[in-house]
Amino acid sequence: MPDDERPQFKVTWLDGRREPTVAPNPQYPDGVDLIMGGDTAPHCKVELPYPAVRCGYYRIECRVCGIRIAVTTAGRPDDPRSATFNCKPKVEPAPPPKPKDMKRPKKTP
Ligand SMILES: [Zn+2]
Repeated sequence: MPDDERPQFKVTWLDGRREPTVAPNPQYPDGVDLIMGGDTAPHCKVELPYPAVRCGYYRIECRVCGIRIAVTTAGRPDDPRSATFNCKPKVEPAPPPKPKDMKRPKKTP
């Protein structure tokens, strides 16, 4: 498959090999749509396999901008259902900071 036909996001499940020990949050019986980052564009939304198997996390990788985030799961009803986050804006690498001329006050004995 050519590169540009692959899905933008690669979601990998990493098994924590633990069962949840805490009761789920009753506020979220149908999963949580995680919102991360601020209101600044661009926003990427990734659907996650829900519910998760058990404790562990999803590693989400954007093939476009290279951002990598991790979303923890517990195998409970309040697991994340999707994750929305700020894609890394494509920016030119910043030039190295110029050394500042430090003017030190002369020490008077
Ligand atoms: Zn991205």
